[in-house]
Amino acid sequence: MANKPTSFVRSLVGPIASTRPSGAFPTDVSGTQMLSVLPLLYNAAQFVSLVRGGAMTKKFLSLVALMFVVPLSLAAQDAKTVLQAASKAMGDVKSIQYSGTGHLYALGQAYSPTSAWPQNNITSYTRTIDYGSRSSKEELTQVEPTPPRLGGAAPFAGEQKQINLVSGQYAWNQAGNAPQPAVAAAEERQVQIWLTPHGFLKAAMENNATAKKGSEGTTVSFTTGKFKINGTIDSQNMVTGTETWVANPVLGDMPVETAYSGYKDFSGVKFPTMIVQKQGGYPVLDLAVTGVQPNVSLNLPVPEAARTTTLPPVKVTSQKLADGIWFLAGGSHNSVLVEYPTYLVMIEAPLDEARSTAVIAEAKKLVPNKPIKYLINTHHHFDHSGGVRTYVAEGSTIITHEMNKAYYEQVWKAPHRLEPDRLAQNPKKPTFMTIKEKYTLADAGRALEIYPLEGDTHNAGLMMVYMPKEKILVEADDFSWPAGTRSGPRYHANNVNLYRNVQRLMLDVKTIAPLHGDPVPVSELEKLATS
Ligand SMILES: [Zn+2]
Repeated sequence: MANKPTSFVRSLVGPIASTRPSGAFPTDVSGTQMLSVLPLLYNAAQFVSLVRGGAMTKKFLSLVALMFVVPLSLAAQDAKTVLQAASKAMGDVKSIQYSGTGHLYALGQAYSPTSAWPQNNITSYTRTIDYGSRSSKEELTQVEPTPPRLGGAAPFAGEQKQINLVSGQYAWNQAGNAPQPAVAAAEERQVQIWLTPHGFLKAAMENNATAKKGSEGTTVSFTTGKFKINGTIDSQNMVTGTETWVANPVLGDMPVETAYSGYKDFSGVKFPTMIVQKQGGYPVLDLAVTGVQPNVSLNLPVPEAARTTTLPPVKVTSQKLADGIWFLAGGSHNSVLVEYPTYLVMIEAPLDEARSTAVIAEAKKLVPNKPIKYLINTHHHFDHSGGVRTYVAEGSTIITHEMNKAYYEQVWKAPHRLEPDRLAQNPKKPTFMTIKEKYTLADAGRALEIYPLEGDTHNAGLMMVYMPKEKILVEADDFSWPAGTRSGPRYHANNVNLYRNVQRLMLDVKTIAPLHGDPVPVSELEKLATS
């Protein structure tokens, strides 16, 4: 008998609790929902104590049931009313196409840890979304600004055209005639559909949204899959903003906030003329919308390649560059392993935990029974630092430029509930060794030298590693081989700056082991930099 009330309460609380986000969101968000659940839990506790005291009656039971059901259904009712009013005011559409110009920003490629994501210009942009088939086609042309801007992201010459597509669970890019599967992008592209004004209203209506009055309007919230989505609807019944969180290896549960303003009427449908999306606190896209066409047809048959491709397993290859020095490649980014008498040093932890786990496994295979005492991080760009947290979990000391320490300490505190990594599961305070000028890591005949670069426009805290005995230079992003994989004036400036730094420091380099591409004689850098 003692168990009965408890299981009854659980069965009541269960469905209510399950409408909450699955703990996968920053606490301030789930907190707003918790507010409506907490009094219910309190009532449930009272109920248990009353039942235990023998005061349970049928009447009381239905009263308790009422206490559980009423507040939630009111919230749902509120949301429905607000959503219907918004849908009426904004115009219901099956599909929408909007176009304009603006800026595209490179997430995680800031010049310094305290600057915004670097900006390219969008000279043309058209996005078509069909809500019923959950498909979207985004076509854009971007150019790099002149003179070359600061910061990262692969440089290019002239115009770069992109066509990004998603249909249901499948995503691909169209470059020329051949579709390229974009498996890793599918989930975010799908959720982006529900972040648009009309998409938000549709998804909210289908997902038992709740509503809460706030200072800027009514906040409507719902959960789809693992994503919690909030949107604000103002007194004119327009969607003025949406927000969600997506997993990022550096920033954890990263906020994605989109602001919609300057609503105008386009063929009977209201649509914003200004769209700004921020990710991780800084803009990733801003658009001045000049054209909107409701209910255009979008037919996106999923290409066979997109349907059948799955994420390839992480591949790590190793190449011995010299005694005790290995070049670990096999993907888009490399690492270099250096063996010391009693420990290992790893140069670079790119991409994410999956890459780090595979690279660490390869290191342990090459040199069993030595700990990775140091991880050298060349710069804070996310594609070069997304795997660093794994080395913190591994117990390595992180060697990085002094400007990065406070940044890492701050951003690594963010919750990683969407995709918990090792460090999130077993929190540990990171240990740093910071660099601001030449530092030599020498031990029992083995030495490597770490140099911050002067005058670099790719990253303010970029560092390179030189091994004097082997005449090997390890560098990131200023020079990649084979030539032609990167181009444009910004890349040429990087080549020249790297070459100048090598000369300034009078480094006797024979081989460059780049963190993108293949090891190559230094003469290739010299040719590019002096051309
Ligand atoms: Zn970079």
